[in-house]
Amino acid sequence: MLHVAVVGSGPSGVYSAQGLVQQSQVPDVQVDVLDRLPCPYGLVRYGVAPDHEKIKSLQNNLRAVLEDERVRFLGGVQVGPGGVPVARLRELYHAVVYCVGAATDRHLGVPGEELPGSWSATEFVSWYSAHPDSVADAFVLGARSAVVLGVGNVAVDVTRMLARGAAELSPTDMPQSALNALAASRVTEISMVGRRGPSQARFTTKELRELGALPDTDVVVDPEELALDPAYLDPSDLPAAQRRNVEVMRGWAAAGPQGRPRRIRPRFFLRPVELLADGGRVGAVRFERTVPDGQGGVTGTGQYEDIEAQLVLRSVGYRGVPLEGLPFDADRATVPHLAGRVLRDGAVSPGEYVAGWIKRGPTGVIGTNRPCAKETVTSLLEDAPVLVRRDVPEDPLAALRAQGVHPVEWTGWQAIERAEAALGASLGRGVVKLPDWEALLTAARTATS
Ligand code: NAP
Repeated sequence: MLHVAVVGSGPSGVYSAQGLVQQSQVPDVQVDVLDRLPCPYGLVRYGVAPDHEKIKSLQNNLRAVLEDERVRFLGGVQVGPGGVPVARLRELYHAVVYCVGAATDRHLGVPGEELPGSWSATEFVSWYSAHPDSVADAFVLGARSAVVLGVGNVAVDVTRMLARGAAELSPTDMPQSALNALAASRVTEISMVGRRGPSQARFTTKELRELGALPDTDVVVDPEELALDPAYLDPSDLPAAQRRNVEVMRGWAAAGPQGRPRRIRPRFFLRPVELLADGGRVGAVRFERTVPDGQGGVTGTGQYEDIEAQLVLRSVGYRGVPLEGLPFDADRATVPHLAGRVLRDGAVSPGEYVAGWIKRGPTGVIGTNRPCAKETVTSLLEDAPVLVRRDVPEDPLAALRAQGVHPVEWTGWQAIERAEAALGASLGRGVVKLPDWEALLTAARTATS
């Protein structure tokens, strides 16, 4: 029997578990999928926007894997300091696949970044996704204008969530406190700002188009600003995805504002240089106007523009964090690897693997994790004949319990799901997520009591 631990139950972790049980090379395999949280699915549960029901329904595919009889979900297990050390995990399993994602946000490194009212997009996403570590709930309080920095898909998500009304948010599973706050929001101006041009934006066209379909919201673009990008004037040489983005924006530029009460303003060629204070909190963002340098980058012009904002969401990408006991490439913020095999000082470390964002960096959509996990699982299965020679405990869960670790098992997660359905019913909504540790763990405990 090959015993494997997968650390992290997001898409890359679950696809790794799937790859391990859906193969015939090593038929006797048992996979424990560990997660720090008592809930599975990682960013599918705590990152995909609540109004993206179709993407969220991917949970059903991930569920089928975690319900396979050779797979066991062990939630509420911290790997690393304060929990199960990496070295101990190595003793308990023949192989460990780290799928821990990119747990923090990149920083801008400009003055004023930490002013009250300036948040990372990940903090905002965690809040409306009911992540139990989220504490802030005053994002939109008192704000009329918001600036979202960055033009990736996360920027589009948070921009869209700021522009949605209560009627559209109520059917989602977002926590009641976030729903109430967004329903009471007075934010009417949302600028989503890129430092490069419209043809270089990172968002995908499907996501971009959704902004134009929001009720009560105009998407306002300035054709002259877009025209700073030579590819905007002649998009014929662009790859299809970028060309479609440009075409969508041309459509908005041609339509002009329709006088709706809320406005989303995609802005380009503006590099954030400082967040400006007003009364002890952020009041505006100062940008330097940039121009294309002809090589895909931009150069500054020495001209500046301030955009008013009582709320700033910095959406400039995620970043991996080191896990004590695992090597870490600080420049790339990933774990060094060879086809998924962890490298320690340049040499393969037997039995240690990575998949997902901690392996390749925070890029790609959920489906990108499938081939990424497949490569890692292929390496692991190649190594399996040697790995199984090492003695490991017959039941790693019993060994974990013996050292005081008591995971939330699948029945506990199912109890959380029942509690979320009951909460939603009591509020006259569908499923509503439990937003804090205490509520989640109390619900999970009802499975055994
Ligand atoms: P991203 O796609 O890497 O976009 C980051 C944005 O931040 C880019 O516009 C980048 O501009 C900008 N940026 C970086 N550093 C900056 C700086 N110092 N100043 C100003 N702007 C800066 O990251 P993301 O939006 O966080 O998304 C992460 C991944 O998740 C992506 O692969 C995304 O597609 C995926 N995702 C997908 C969905 C979906 O499918 N619906 C939803 C959410 C996330 P430059 O290009 O100039 O560097």
